[in-house]
Amino acid sequence: MRDEKLAAYLRTLVVGVDTVVPLVNGKKVTAINFDNAATTPPFVSVLKSVEDFAPWYSSIHRGSGYKSVLSSEIYEETRDAVKNFVKAGGQDVVIYTKNTTEAINMLAYLLRQEDGDQVVLSTDMEHLANDLPWQSQLAVDYVRVDRFGNLCLDDMEAKLKKYSGKVKLVTVTGASNVTGIINPVYRIATLAHAYGARILVDGAQWVPHCPVDMKPEDSPEHIDFLVFSAHKMYAPFGIGILIGPQAFFAQFPPVYQGGGDVRLVSRQMIEWQQPPAKNEAGTPNIMGVVALLAALKTLTGIGMSTVRNYERDLIHYALGGLSRLSGVTLYGWENNRQERVSLCSFTVQGIHHKLLAEVLSYEAGIAVRNGLFCAHPYVENLLQLSAEKLDYYHCHPEVPLPGMVRMSLGLYNNYAEIDKFLEALRWAIANKE
Ligand code: PLP
Repeated sequence: MRDEKLAAYLRTLVVGVDTVVPLVNGKKVTAINFDNAATTPPFVSVLKSVEDFAPWYSSIHRGSGYKSVLSSEIYEETRDAVKNFVKAGGQDVVIYTKNTTEAINMLAYLLRQEDGDQVVLSTDMEHLANDLPWQSQLAVDYVRVDRFGNLCLDDMEAKLKKYSGKVKLVTVTGASNVTGIINPVYRIATLAHAYGARILVDGAQWVPHCPVDMKPEDSPEHIDFLVFSAHKMYAPFGIGILIGPQAFFAQFPPVYQGGGDVRLVSRQMIEWQQPPAKNEAGTPNIMGVVALLAALKTLTGIGMSTVRNYERDLIHYALGGLSRLSGVTLYGWENNRQERVSLCSFTVQGIHHKLLAEVLSYEAGIAVRNGLFCAHPYVENLLQLSAEKLDYYHCHPEVPLPGMVRMSLGLYNNYAEIDKFLEALRWAIANKE
């Protein structure tokens, strides 16, 4: 059931909902942003917190001045807020990174330093950020997906068995950035642990949309490592999060080295700080942390279950409309049986994805994303592109690449915007050459 009061309230929380943009016909319309999976606009509270904090801005852990001490306190306090937000355990540390990509690259680099010739199990539905870093650092195998875009847990189990205790990590996205499908991460964690593997969840598309619980360390459902980005949850760019056991990070020299991560350096030895400081060399991004804290407070104030339920209704409304349009193919679509976050991808017969995205933008002021969404193998599977066809694209850089159009909703989007989007699509379909 539509909760218009909630929708109106959520809209007041976000900056830029009434930005006016020009169309090709010279008219102007209020922009509709359906590209939230790439980046969300900031919360009003986030801007305010950054502005309020600006006079107090100072370097972290490097000064005894009042402002430096205050900045350091907020920096550390935010780690606790992050932990509470995802229910991380007492043994976990929160490491600030630049974004999810950097967090996963850091983890891959550290895991490579562990003993033993072990394998990482990734999947065929990952964003490249949770694929390429593993390929470059370790031996990787990939769990298959079925034709509806679902992860094949049978294949995961078969692969865990095949490597008989040698899988050091199962790494999987919490929710797909292409289909929005939410993976059964707690079942996957139980499976991974049964075979002696740890689990990393790429939370970039999961944490901003669902209540997340890393579960206690002694639970089979425990999530060992979690990563996500602030810019996808209503805070600005430049802050990512890597959470994992302190004892793990304590074992290895850090990826980045310099000031702030060492207690003492002499010509005899280097004595590292304890994690998380050990893993945060260089002057940290205090403004990003302040912004993240405000975003977490606002999301907590709304309640992540409320966000989840509101966005679920919204995406189902959009999916219902899309599935009734002629010539539209939805991907990751199994008669609407999958649990998904508030995004979906589709193609329209006879209209190239790039042209369709441009038409939506220039004719209706609606921003979507098109292409392969940095999840090339997953999109290639869903589009059923053969190896020969992919070879052809590799050999012909002048040929436009295949792809899809993605609509991704934020908590501030509403039904009226979806109606305008469906109307614009109907127009594009009716007017295709
Ligand atoms: N993982 C997923 C599922 C994503 O959707 C994205 C970005 O879209 C990333 C990782 C990478 O995030 P970032 O660009 O913030 O590093």
